[in-house]
Amino acid sequence: MRSQAIRQAFLDFFAARGHEIVPSSPLVPRNDPTLLFTNAGMVPFKDTFLGLEQRPYRRAVSAQRCMRAGGKHNDLENVGYTARHHTFFEMLGNFSFGDYFKREVIGYAWTFLTEVLKLPPERLWVTVFAEDREAEDIWLREMGIDPARFSRCGEKDNFWSMGDTGPCGPCSEIFYDHGPEIPGGPPGSPDADGDRYIEIWNLVFMQYDRDSSGRLTPLPKPSVDTGMGLERLAAVLQGVHNNYDTDLFQPLIQAAADISGKVYGADPAADTSLRVLADHVRACSFLMADGVLPSNEGRGYVLRRIIRRAVRHGRKLGLGDIFFHRLVPPLVSVMGEAYPELRRAERDIQGHLRREEARFRETLERGLELLEEAIGGLAPGAPIPGEVIFRLSDTYGFPVDLTADIARERGLALDMPGFEAALAEQRQRSRAAWVGSGEVKADRLYHDLAMELPATEFLGYGGCSGAGRV
Ligand code: ATP
Ligand code: MG
Ligand code: MG
Ligand code: MG
Repeated sequence: MRSQAIRQAFLDFFAARGHEIVPSSPLVPRNDPTLLFTNAGMVPFKDTFLGLEQRPYRRAVSAQRCMRAGGKHNDLENVGYTARHHTFFEMLGNFSFGDYFKREVIGYAWTFLTEVLKLPPERLWVTVFAEDREAEDIWLREMGIDPARFSRCGEKDNFWSMGDTGPCGPCSEIFYDHGPEIPGGPPGSPDADGDRYIEIWNLVFMQYDRDSSGRLTPLPKPSVDTGMGLERLAAVLQGVHNNYDTDLFQPLIQAAADISGKVYGADPAADTSLRVLADHVRACSFLMADGVLPSNEGRGYVLRRIIRRAVRHGRKLGLGDIFFHRLVPPLVSVMGEAYPELRRAERDIQGHLRREEARFRETLERGLELLEEAIGGLAPGAPIPGEVIFRLSDTYGFPVDLTADIARERGLALDMPGFEAALAEQRQRSRAAWVGSGEVKADRLYHDLAMELPATEFLGYGGCSGAGRV
């Protein structure tokens, strides 16, 4: 089943059950300073869940474009390494605004998976929040799910929140078992982090609004928010294990392989880079189609980091010339029908990518030389010194996550306390130099560096935490 057909089948199924089909919102949330990007299908409906906005319907369905780079949900570091994570992806979701609740949504999800898509129930695994006896009863007693493929999980996995504040609630997740030849244990087990059991659908029972002090207030009406990754479902339905082997990604991987003269599947390191390029061209193009441009702060800086990461992987594949923009036309072929805005922005996107890449290429080689030299001089087991990380970021435009990506390939750690010390010192210096003509430069520098600090608050948009950055 092609991705386009899967997307449509989902919308049709819920439309036939009284859900309004709502088009995808942009990746930049409207009027929401707490959030960097739309990171889930529920984001455009946040105010509806909170009771702040009334809609002429109480059930909705959407295929929402999402971005998980920066902010609370950040999958940038996973890209290229897991079979299931992207920065940009599409989330299929159905929503109830104070209409149906647990029983109905569980029934809908099971019917869609096992009757419409005809997935064998013995490949599916279900989890609930450990304290949610009601959901457990519905699955085990009413739906007759096999208790051997059922687990109760803690807050980390089964209590969903959009960000540090906002709507949240316990959830129930459905996993697909890709088979014993793939490493990874079932949900809830100690080695659940593998790629054997892949989470496909999360059913969130929206019950609370979390405020900035962490307090939970019940929502005006219990509601439902679900999210299923189109790419993960496509992998299941196309009989492949890895999302990158689906019709959404293969043309992009092929294009990247063609221009670099590689064969996908021949070398694991090159495959990682090809997957990174396929992911990142989607992310960058959709961000720009939604009006984000590369810059040194906020959303634009996330975009810049993704572009730089892609360029570095391109260089690793042996691409010496500016190349990244060449992946845009293949992307438009895959996604242009579902997203006409992408086609409209195609030329602009290519222009911005060319310029960004040209700019980064001016410092990339020398930065890599510096890094190689530093790595060459390391004692066994020593991390990359903070001073080096700092110089790479300050002088050569290497975002910290880019240095971290290289370190990971070499099995090296980063001396982050050392980096922070170098950063603090630099700040001190620029503060001392902050008189008259130094203003613009110092400001820019501060922002550049502030954005790279791991695990700090993202000040520009009012406090998305940057947890898990490095
Ligand atoms: P995982 O545990 O695999 O990281 P998650 O629990 O973070 O996923 P949710 O926040 O529950 O994901 O999002 C709902 C659904 O969106 C997931 O069940 C999955 O199908 C999909 N999804 C989440 N993150 C990604 C991603 N980075 N790339 C592709 N699909 C994703
Ligand atoms: Mg996740
Ligand atoms: Mg999960
Ligand atoms: Mg989940």
